[in-house]
Amino acid sequence: MKPINAFTVDVEDYYHVSAFEKEISRSDWDRFESRVMRGTHRVLELLAKHDTLATFFVLGWIADRFPRLVQDIHAAGHELGSHSYWHRLVYDLSPDEFHNDLVASLTAIENASGSRPINYRAPSFSITKHSLWALKILAEQGIVCDSSIFPIRHDRYGIPDARTEIHSIDTPCGPLYEFPPSVARVAGVNLPVSGGGYFRLYPLAWTVRCLRQINSESRPFMFYVHPWELDPDQPRLSVGSQLSRLRHRVNLASTERKLDELLSTFRFGRVCDVLAAMPGADRNGRAKVHRESTALAGD
Ligand SMILES: [Zn+2]
Repeated sequence: MKPINAFTVDVEDYYHVSAFEKEISRSDWDRFESRVMRGTHRVLELLAKHDTLATFFVLGWIADRFPRLVQDIHAAGHELGSHSYWHRLVYDLSPDEFHNDLVASLTAIENASGSRPINYRAPSFSITKHSLWALKILAEQGIVCDSSIFPIRHDRYGIPDARTEIHSIDTPCGPLYEFPPSVARVAGVNLPVSGGGYFRLYPLAWTVRCLRQINSESRPFMFYVHPWELDPDQPRLSVGSQLSRLRHRVNLASTERKLDELLSTFRFGRVCDVLAAMPGADRNGRAKVHRESTALAGD
C-alpha cells in the first residue's frame, strides 16, 4: 500500500499574497475582483475526480465573506484549518496580536462551517526562529497540527535546520504536531519540492522523483497549493518586485494539468488521515512520533 501524503490548500485570493502586502492595503481588499470561489471549486472538482480528501487552510477574512464556500469544502468531507484572519506575517505581530488574529480566524471558520479547526498554517510559513512563541498560542487555542515551519533558507521564511519530517513539539500549553512542507535533500541542501511556486516552476518529472524519494523512506510528504494557482486568467497586479510578480505568475496555465497527474501518481489524504496512518497511531488516530523539547521562547 502506498503511504498517504497530505494534500493541502491555502484558501486565499490572488491579492492576499504576502509579496504584495506592502502595496495592497488590507482595507482595500474588498475593492478587488474576487476569484477565490472559482479557483477553490477547480481544486474541489479535481479532488472529487480523484476521490481524494484534503485539508483546506482557510483565511478567516474569506470565511466571513464566503461562508458558503467553507460549507461546500466541509460538506465534501474535507478537513478545515486556519490560514490566519488577515494574512499578516507572524513575525511582524506581537503575541497578543497573533492570538487575536488566530481566534478571529477560528471563530469565522467555525461560524461558517459549525466546525472549529484544529490545523493551522501561517501566512507565508512565517513561523521562524523569531516567532516560535506562536506555537504555544496555537496549542492553547486547541490546534493539534501546525504546518508553518519551512525547513529551508528563503528571503521571507524558513528555518534551514528545522526537522523535515512530522514531529511533536512540547509547548507550555501541551504538545503540537509540526508537519512541515516537504523538502528533498539535494547536494546537501534542503530543496522545497512540495507545492506552490516550486511545483509550478519545476518540471513535473523532477517533482515526482523528489516526492517518490521521500515516500521511499517511508515518510509522507506535505503538498500545498493555492486556488489562484489554478486561475491563469486572474487580473494582473502591477505591484511588488519583478521577482515577486514572476514567482506569482510562473506557469499558472499548467498547474491544473500537473495537479491532475500528481493526484494520479500519489496517494493523498487529509492531515488527520496522515497522522492516523502513522506507525504507532493510537485508537484516537493520534500518532506517536518523535517528541522534541524545543526552547520556545524565541527572541
Ligand atoms: Zn497564504
